[in-house]
Amino acid sequence: MGPYKILNSTFDRGFSVHPFIFIPKWTETQGIENSYEAHERTHCGRQKNFFYGLYWIGHYYVSKSFRFQEETLAYITQVITRLAPITKPSERAFLKTQIISEYAGEMATEYRGMCTVDQAIKALSAGVP
Ligand SMILES: [Zn+2]
Repeated sequence: MGPYKILNSTFDRGFSVHPFIFIPKWTETQGIENSYEAHERTHCGRQKNFFYGLYWIGHYYVSKSFRFQEETLAYITQVITRLAPITKPSERAFLKTQIISEYAGEMATEYRGMCTVDQAIKALSAGVP
């Protein structure tokens, strides 16, 4: 999974610059730190190394389509991580729909207009088996 360094974020949101991953404390109290970390690990993996990571962050900041592409990959990993312990197919299908719509809401509102809810639902549904 990569030799990443997991640190506490003092901000509300997590972020990554290879090889550092910052996870906010509140994810622990909600019991979602694993899937949150999986999300950030995806970004870190895509950043490959510290210098490409800095370029990645700049590109991420200026380009909506790049943000959407990178967040889609990270959220797909996050959904898969949350669904992993669920073995009953009907329960899994129900939760999949629920988690995807929750994350699609975040994607459409917390990333400076990178996508609509419908675009996010479509992208996440296509990526989660
Ligand atoms: Zn992200």
